[in-house]
Amino acid sequence: MVLTKAYDVIVVGGGPAGMLAAARAAELGARVLIIEKNDTLGRKMLITGGGRCNLTNNANLEETIANIPGNGKFVYSALHRFSGQDLRDLLKKLGLRTKVEEQGRVFPVTDRAADVLNTLLKYLQRLGVSIRYQSKVDALQIKDGCCQGVWLGEKMLAANAVVLATGGLSYPQTGSTGEGHKMAQRAGHTITPLYPAAVAITCHDPWIVQREVQGVSLPQVMITLYNEKGKLLASEIGDIIFTHWGLSGPGALRVGRVVALACAQGQGPLRGELDLFPQHTWQSLEQLIIEKAATGSKRSLKNIISTLLPERLSKVAITLSGLNPETPFDKLASDSLEVLVRLLKALPLKVTGTRPLAEATVTGGGVHIKEINPRTMASKLIHGLFFAGEIIDVDAHTGGFNMQVAFSTGYLAGEAAASLTQESS
Ligand SMILES: Cc1cc2nc3c(=O)[nH]c(=O)nc-3n(C[C@H](O)[C@H](O)[C@H](O)COP(=O)(O)OP(=O)(O)OC[C@H]3O[C@@H](n4cnc5c(N)ncnc54)[C@H](O)[C@@H]3O)c2cc1C
Repeated sequence: MVLTKAYDVIVVGGGPAGMLAAARAAELGARVLIIEKNDTLGRKMLITGGGRCNLTNNANLEETIANIPGNGKFVYSALHRFSGQDLRDLLKKLGLRTKVEEQGRVFPVTDRAADVLNTLLKYLQRLGVSIRYQSKVDALQIKDGCCQGVWLGEKMLAANAVVLATGGLSYPQTGSTGEGHKMAQRAGHTITPLYPAAVAITCHDPWIVQREVQGVSLPQVMITLYNEKGKLLASEIGDIIFTHWGLSGPGALRVGRVVALACAQGQGPLRGELDLFPQHTWQSLEQLIIEKAATGSKRSLKNIISTLLPERLSKVAITLSGLNPETPFDKLASDSLEVLVRLLKALPLKVTGTRPLAEATVTGGGVHIKEINPRTMASKLIHGLFFAGEIIDVDAHTGGFNMQVAFSTGYLAGEAAASLTQESS
């Protein structure tokens, strides 16, 4: 069969990974087509950072890798080749400036994700990238170990290279429903088990499920997790928010993948501990409470702890330590204060699992990294096939790291896919 190739590179999926892959390939002179099943590109990108688009992080390369607990080293070359700063420089060149917020998180100065999308769309247009919307790729055309194009229903579109950038499995309403994984698997690739990463955790403590602290948020607490044998599994600091099923917020999301993996191995429920004052030792916290109490002698324990913690949580913590929240502080036995302080530094949690994959920020697992060349994102099994973004078995903490992985791997895949085309012409 003689294939007429209208395109050199076909990119399947128009998220951040697909957009950068397409742009880079086109910059290098390739004729590029993005095939996207939605009626717009970047639907998931539009909801990152609460709709402001947390597009990258200001962290250096080593810090960035440390924030990618799922196979971070695999993306070293990609992050080196196209860094967060490169991304910011590119957007600036295209007319969109960015800003750094707390914990290094980077946003457009306009605080609008749509501006990032529109900037990239204009760039793709300027580079002559064709985009086919509302078109779902069903299969890859593979012959003799070479990827020759893609199938849209009964129609085959030929190309020298195909970049699969179909995303993970979380938030399927944004378009990432796992078809790319199936196509990769049919091509012979291993898909490591998929699980929710950067995901909220569920707890079974009565004071949580009975909504006593629902909606209470705390900055920078430490969450520590142990399995039933007492082995330390994770310890992370971050902001949290209590819900009626457990814990959400960036701090909870940082341990979510560990909970998901442990539970998948049958290790749950896990023992958790919340250090509500990680900046204090037991002694300094005890001293702080004594100082607070000294400012008003007839105050109850609840009133004093409420100067340090939200009131509803203060009440819960005091009750859990076996004390009466209404006890006047000056009537408190000194060992009771110690018990309370220990509890505030290690509030026990019974962690039962995570919210489902569909609600996770990121999908853990994906195309096995051993089957992808980290310098080019090329499949080691199929010539002309490349991967980019969340479809790969790489997952990062929230904070812009996942988006950067998508952009960097996309850049690399686009570059390599275009050079393949140049080789063959
Ligand atoms: C609520 C939420 C908040 C997030 N916040 C952050 C954050 O603050 N910082 C951060 O770094 N990351 C964040 N992320 C994660 C980040 O959005 C993703 O990691 C990133 O979008 C992955 O990019 P991608 O291009 O690989 O995949 P996606 O963005 O998922 O794009 C894949 C595209 O492929 C298309 N597609 C799929 N299958 C087909 C097919 N068969 N044919 C054609 N098209 C197809 C989809 O429609 C989709 O447009 C967040 C995610 C969510 C859900």
